[in-house]
Amino acid sequence: MSKIINNFYNVEIPEDKKILVLCDIDDTVLKYDKTLNDFLPFIEKFSVYKAYIERPMAYALYKEYKDNAIPMHTDIDGFNDMIRKINKNNNGSKLEFLTARSKKFDMNTKKQLADIGIYRSEDYTYHYTYDNFKNKASYIENNIDVLDYDVVIFIDDREDELSLCREYFPEIITYQFKI
Ligand SMILES: [Mg+2]
Repeated sequence: MSKIINNFYNVEIPEDKKILVLCDIDDTVLKYDKTLNDFLPFIEKFSVYKAYIERPMAYALYKEYKDNAIPMHTDIDGFNDMIRKINKNNNGSKLEFLTARSKKFDMNTKKQLADIGIYRSEDYTYHYTYDNFKNKASYIENNIDVLDYDVVIFIDDREDELSLCREYFPEIITYQFKI
């Protein structure tokens, strides 16, 4: 199981080790007022559709909501503190974003992260898995050289992504971010 956290102060950054932190975006650093669940009751109450229609509809409504809503940071102070600790190692340690978003939202993503207070959001490396990979573990396997680091940490809100990653790479330390 992953360690469960609700802030970034609880991510342990070892000193004097070369560290890569892979960090999810949606519902990990960035959140919205509403969640998918807020759209399900509406559909169930008013819709005559069967459940397998309703859920995709809820996803579509939620996506439409997110396209227009203003996101918030889940924990800006803790995040900045984590970045400070990573940079303090001064040995090539870094944080990179690993998101299931599509690469076509690259500019929008960097702007959103700037809007929620992430300093120099355009300077980070972003890994977008949506277009070519069905999960983050296979993306890491094909695109990230984990052997280049002493410690690799992966933070995500979805335990299915994290546990699959541990199957591929047992040495990766995983944290489940729960808001
Ligand atoms: Mg997420």
